Amino acid sequence: MSKVDNLLKGINAFIRKAEEGSEDITAILPNDIPELDELPELVESFEALTAKRLRQQRKFYLDAFQSFISKDDEMTLEAMLNYLQSDLFASDEFAILYGIEAAAFLTNTTESLTKIIMESIGKDVAFNDLSMRTTDWVASWSKELAEIMQLNTHKAIESELVAAIEAGESIQQAEIRLKDLPEFDRKRARDTARTEILAASSQANWESFMHSPSVEGKKWKHSGSKKSQPGATHVAMDGEVVGVDELFLVDGEFGMYPRDTTFSAKNRVNCGCVIGPVVNQDIIRLSLEEKEEIRQQVLNELHEE
Ligand SMILES: [Zn+2]
Repeated sequence: MSKVDNLLKGINAFIRKAEEGSEDITAILPNDIPELDELPELVESFEALTAKRLRQQRKFYLDAFQSFISKDDEMTLEAMLNYLQSDLFASDEFAILYGIEAAAFLTNTTESLTKIIMESIGKDVAFNDLSMRTTDWVASWSKELAEIMQLNTHKAIESELVAAIEAGESIQQAEIRLKDLPEFDRKRARDTARTEILAASSQANWESFMHSPSVEGKKWKHSGSKKSQPGATHVAMDGEVVGVDELFLVDGEFGMYPRDTTFSAKNRVNCGCVIGPVVNQDIIRLSLEEKEEIRQQVLNELHEE
C-alpha cells in the first residue's frame, strides 16, 4: 500500500473509533503513522472548549431562572416559559461565541491534515494556504453548526418546561430538569468534537488533492468486512474513479466521499470505505516550477467559479 493510502486509511480508522466513543483518544491512533500525533490534542482541546461553552450556557439559563423567580413569589412556569421565548433565547450568546471557536478548530485541523496528506503524496509542491473554497466552507459550516446546537438546546429547554407544566411540577422541580439537561453535558461536547474531525478530514482530502498537481482524481476503496452492511454495493464501488471535485454515484445517491452526509443512512452506517488519490506519474516527475504552475491554474479556476 502506498504511503498516502496507508495514511488515509489510518485517519479514517481513527475517526471511526473516535465516533464510536473510545475512552482514550490517543490510544486509538494508528501507531505506524507518527504524522498524526497532533490530532488527539486538537480534538481534545476542542472538546474542552465546547464543554466550557455548554457550561456557560447552562449557567446563563440557571441564573436567569433564579433571578426571574426571585422577583416574584407568585411566579409561574408558564410565565418563565414565556420569558424564555420572548426574551432570553434571543440574548443567548452561545452560537456567536462557539461559531468562532468551531471555525478555529476546523481551520487548524483541516490545515494540519492537508499538510500531512500532501506530504505523503510525495514529490509534489508543499502546502501553503487553504483555498478560498475551504475557508468559505469553514466560515459557513462553523456558523451553521453553532446555530443548530443552540436551536437544539432551546428546543430541549422548551420541551422540559412544557413537560414540567403538564406534570404540574414546582418551580424547583423544573429547575432540576434544566440542570440535568443532556444538552449541557460533557458527552455532547465530546460527540460534537469527534464528529467534526470527519468534516475536517473530508475537506482536507479534497483540499490536498486539489493542491497536488499530480493528483488527477479520487478513487473509492472498499474497506471493512463483506458481511457488514452496506457491504455489497460498496464492494462494487471499489476502484471507482471520479474527478477530485466530482461526486461518486452509489446506489442511486451522490456523495463527494464515503460517509458524506448527502448519502442516506443506509450508505453511511457501517461504511468503512476510504478514498485515495489517483496520481499521474508523469506529472509527479515534473519540476517544482512546472508543478507550481499547474497548482496556480487549479486555484485560479476555483477562484473564478
Ligand atoms: Zn463503504
